[in-house]
Amino acid sequence: MYSAGLNNYCHFAEESGFLNATAMTCLDVPVEPRPSVVWENMQWQRSNILRVQALAAAKYACEVDSVHKSFIARKNDKPYMEGHHLIPLLNQGRFEYSLDVYANIVCLCPVCHRMLHYGRKQDVEPILERFWIERCKRFEHSGLSLTEGQFMNLALKNRI
Ligand SMILES: [Zn+2]
Ligand SMILES: [Zn+2]
Repeated sequence: MYSAGLNNYCHFAEESGFLNATAMTCLDVPVEPRPSVVWENMQWQRSNILRVQALAAAKYACEVDSVHKSFIARKNDKPYMEGHHLIPLLNQGRFEYSLDVYANIVCLCPVCHRMLHYGRKQDVEPILERFWIERCKRFEHSGLSLTEGQFMNLALKNRI
């Protein structure tokens, strides 16, 4: 029952286009972090909705460069893109408010996504710096207070 409702919501979020990139910034508010122990399955589904909406808001274009091509996903007939948390969720303990928020999710083509995780520091750093400039105000609005240096440190730690 509950998951059917979530599915409908996902479809609604995905197809109605009610969230565009401008409207997204209105959603940049501090969010209480969810408990890490209970409702594990629901947590995943919730973050899945955020991810889907973040991709829709970016109009399924890679936020590193919108000309990047991907294939069409069979699930929704949209270009296949991936959501990436700039500040890795494993750092939640350092923040009062949730890291699983729109401001912290970027829409990336699969190559850029892998690059952010596995690429060389000198290639990744300029991209992260740009995301910082584009998003630092949104982080602030989402209750995520950190300096550029702290952001770069945490974002670079995403790399395995
Ligand atoms: Zn990622
Ligand atoms: Zn890309």
